[in-house]
Amino acid sequence: MRIYDPSQPRAAGGRAPAFRHVRSSLLRPGVRLPVRLARRGLAIGIDIGGTKVAAGVVDGEGRILAERYRDTPGHDPREVEQVIVSLVRELSAEFRVLSVGIGAAGWMDRSGSTVLFSPHLAWRNEPVRMNLEKLLHRRVAVSNDADAAAWAEFRFGAGMGQDRLVCITLGTGIGGGIVIDGRIERGNWGVAGEFGHQIIVPQGHRCECGNRGCWEQYASGNAVGREARELAAANSPVAQEWLRAAGGDADRITGAIVTALAREGDTASINLLEDIGEWLGLGLANLAAALDPGMFVIGGGLSEAGDLLLGPARSAFNRNLTGRGFRPAAPIERAALGPKAGLIGAADLSRVIAWR
Ligand SMILES: [Zn+2]
Repeated sequence: MRIYDPSQPRAAGGRAPAFRHVRSSLLRPGVRLPVRLARRGLAIGIDIGGTKVAAGVVDGEGRILAERYRDTPGHDPREVEQVIVSLVRELSAEFRVLSVGIGAAGWMDRSGSTVLFSPHLAWRNEPVRMNLEKLLHRRVAVSNDADAAAWAEFRFGAGMGQDRLVCITLGTGIGGGIVIDGRIERGNWGVAGEFGHQIIVPQGHRCECGNRGCWEQYASGNAVGREARELAAANSPVAQEWLRAAGGDADRITGAIVTALAREGDTASINLLEDIGEWLGLGLANLAAALDPGMFVIGGGLSEAGDLLLGPARSAFNRNLTGRGFRPAAPIERAALGPKAGLIGAADLSRVIAWR
């Protein structure tokens, strides 16, 4: 039997990975592959987003060897399964794949077998793992997308070597993943890590979850866009650059526009990111009081603002940290793996879970 060996050069063409032969004493019929070796095999990670499904073959070092994309299908769970099956068939025609990991927004039961609820998909109490294992004839792991990103940063990214970390994904909302003692913590009913919905301003901005004043209404990419649009709609002079970048249409101002202008040195954009960073740091201080992690890793689109966001976040965190002055402050670091973290983490979790 052959296993993938990342230390060997790739085959010609750069596509097919190199393999090396394993001593046959390890591979007698009926002898299970040692975990140490199995984890070096290839896994497919599939990240199901609101509009796109991304799939990739990931090796034991967290490297993506090949990728494929599809549009996220409509509202039928069977259609989603068929997209997953076609992606896995396509990729496994080129690579020998041991397991498949799915990452999607939503809540999974503790065993990772059933998706209880997914906002983008029609999965409601859906036994996704069992259904897919029957279709794919491989071990399958299903993970929350923020957990998958946290796992990737822990295994291969900014959190390497830090086995108690909290990973925050700043996008349209705020996703959260918790790694404790080198494993993902999902809570009793699979809802742990929904940090975006901690209420940080009583009676504050309305949130789509039904409550008011949730953290993600103050510290997400969407929050940056909303604040900038409000200033533009009020004809504030500070909104001039945002309006220009959005072609004069206040409704088209986004967090990404503000972040890009801030990086070019626009004062109003830098100031707005400072405000958002302070909300971020305040929420992180709350999380430190509850979880006391050794590190916070900040990913998602808004994290591209880098220290323009994280600098003010660190200051607010230090000002609000429980026990400040008598304890170290956990570092707040920018994520290292970018938008592929969910795909990489989903694949790696499948490797770990499949061979447990
Ligand atoms: Zn909420």
